[in-house]
Amino acid sequence: MKRRHLLAAGSAAMALPAQAMDFAAPHAPAAIRASVDRIVDIAVGIRPFRAQGPRIEAERRFGKALVHHYGHGGSGWSLSWGSAQRALALVQASGARPGDRIAVIGCGAIGLTTARTAQQAGYRVRLYAKDRPPRVHSSAATGLWTPDSRIVANEHASDTWQDGWEAMARASFKVHQSYLGLPSGPVEWHDGYVIADDGFDTPLPGHAGEPEYPDLYDRIHDLRPQGRALAPGEHPFRSPHVRRFTQLVFNIPAYQRLLLDDFARDGGELVQRELHTPRDFARLPERVIVNCTGDGARTLLGDAGMTPVRGQTARLIPQPEVGYAVIYRGHNCVALPRRDGLLVAAMGEHDFGSADLQPDRAQSEDAVRRLASLF
Ligand SMILES: Cc1cc2nc3c(=O)[nH]c(=O)nc-3n(C[C@H](O)[C@H](O)[C@H](O)COP(=O)(O)OP(=O)(O)OC[C@H]3O[C@@H](n4cnc5c(N)ncnc54)[C@H](O)[C@@H]3O)c2cc1C
Repeated sequence: MKRRHLLAAGSAAMALPAQAMDFAAPHAPAAIRASVDRIVDIAVGIRPFRAQGPRIEAERRFGKALVHHYGHGGSGWSLSWGSAQRALALVQASGARPGDRIAVIGCGAIGLTTARTAQQAGYRVRLYAKDRPPRVHSSAATGLWTPDSRIVANEHASDTWQDGWEAMARASFKVHQSYLGLPSGPVEWHDGYVIADDGFDTPLPGHAGEPEYPDLYDRIHDLRPQGRALAPGEHPFRSPHVRRFTQLVFNIPAYQRLLLDDFARDGGELVQRELHTPRDFARLPERVIVNCTGDGARTLLGDAGMTPVRGQTARLIPQPEVGYAVIYRGHNCVALPRRDGLLVAAMGEHDFGSADLQPDRAQSEDAVRRLASLF
């Protein structure tokens, strides 16, 4: 099955079987205090969508090995570690030896995990970035395990490509698990509810300009518990169509901070620098460079296969008593129980192709009101 559009949570939460494993009904969960005066911050970021899928390939340029590693769409956090392992293999193939210093350009999810993966393999790493967290697009992400969200256009998803994606998703998943149980909680598991007023068989409306995406999630369905449909009385919502799922959640600020701290502890250097043209790669002293510039690659390299996809998240005052996520299907609204706030993602009709970084408060307020209508 192909779809025009995946809700930010990806197909994962949508494709739950109607009857599955037997869960005990949860205790009545605390209601989300969905009110617009609880919005404390709104962040806008760009998903670096590349129709052919992420570019992970090496070229020789200016006498250097240049490893490109960008274009992870709506899946960058989810796929980061597995993708970094593939980029590392290219660094190793370039002839660089452990102990050598390499450059990583970019300090988002992809740059940070690439830098850490290279350090763990014995390289010394210098990170160059125009901006660092929290001023990178990765900081605006929702924080769900969505390895299949806007990651490739259907026409480019050959079987070989899908095999590579699956290997990347599995490798990434494994590393994320090693971040469970830490005091700052960079990675946690949470239950969630998908709510569909009109039932789950109603197709989601297409969004302007979006290509067809392949259905990838079945390949990794074993990586999390199966969900199930809930009967009225088993959930706190007004809607009759509710399913429960269990999902990996990334507490983005804690995750970024930990990665930065670990990077520095292992001798990593961070240099603030913007590259304006590909010639600027030549000016760096390192002979092996990994280009993790995300949407920045669109202008830096003029990659015509890249499309910016705007996204906006609002944070409501944290509610530690709320431990579940909500996906309001067909209403473009996702809520996540993050430690830094109750995160509410809002999807706009014209996000695809838009690089507009201006926050739209009305859009987030609408999403919060739609959420409020559920309780
Ligand atoms: C609203 C929203 C919600 C999302 N939700 C999820 C989610 O739930 N799960 C998930 O897995 N993914 C999610 N994503 C996608 C994920 O955030 C992206 O795939 C990820 O941020 C890409 O990371 P990146 O490191 O490639 O890019 P970025 O975070 O943009 O980092 C790029 C880095 O390169 C630097 N740079 C760029 N150009 C230059 C230059 N010319 N010179 C020097 N430095 C440069 C930047 O300063 C920055 O440091 C979401 C994205 C958005 C916007």
